[in-house]
Amino acid sequence: MKKIVVFLGAPGAGKGTAAAAVAARTGARHVSTGAMLRDAVARGTPAGLEAKSFMDAGALVPDEVLYRMVSELLAAAPDGSTLFFDGFPRNSAQAEKLGELAAAAAATVDAAVMLDVSEATLVERLGGRRTCPKCGAGYHVKSLPPKVEGVCDKCGAALVTRADDRPETIANRLAVYERSTAPVVGFYERAGLLKRIDASGPADAVAALVEAAL
Ligand SMILES: [Zn+2]
Repeated sequence: MKKIVVFLGAPGAGKGTAAAAVAARTGARHVSTGAMLRDAVARGTPAGLEAKSFMDAGALVPDEVLYRMVSELLAAAPDGSTLFFDGFPRNSAQAEKLGELAAAAAATVDAAVMLDVSEATLVERLGGRRTCPKCGAGYHVKSLPPKVEGVCDKCGAALVTRADDRPETIANRLAVYERSTAPVVGFYERAGLLKRIDASGPADAVAALVEAAL
């Protein structure tokens, strides 16, 4: 049997960081939706080629293509392996579909890890992000400040706040999350698979809590 663990949480909750850290410690495979797409496109799988045609046209990859990609991934996963999904499922329909795709590939969704963070903390985390437009380095005004305020340590360029991290965009991202992804939490709660983790602390503490819960 192959196991799937789904990572859930609002933007800024630290899903990707926690999934990557726990995967590195347990030998699980961390699958972020973005990486899955890029990998399938790079390897030229049937679903990857299809996804590429949408991406090249600047369009969103439709769910049907995403599902085929998840199927390819599950089919190729060795028996006994564990996959951490980060960024999928994003809504209840996708969560139901994941159950079907798993069953068809001799896999089970074993747990859904919900990273709980207060809205105030999310706003602080996302709003404090600064990015170097020249070399791509990322900073945070509180948790990862550059040596000189507003200046990139690596290349000396002036740091910027990405459009995604501006207050009005953050409010919108959190609202979209509440509307579409929060119901997924209820879906897994009803299935008895939900593990709520207090994700307000530092990344290594959150990873330890997740590892202990699995
Ligand atoms: Zn830089």
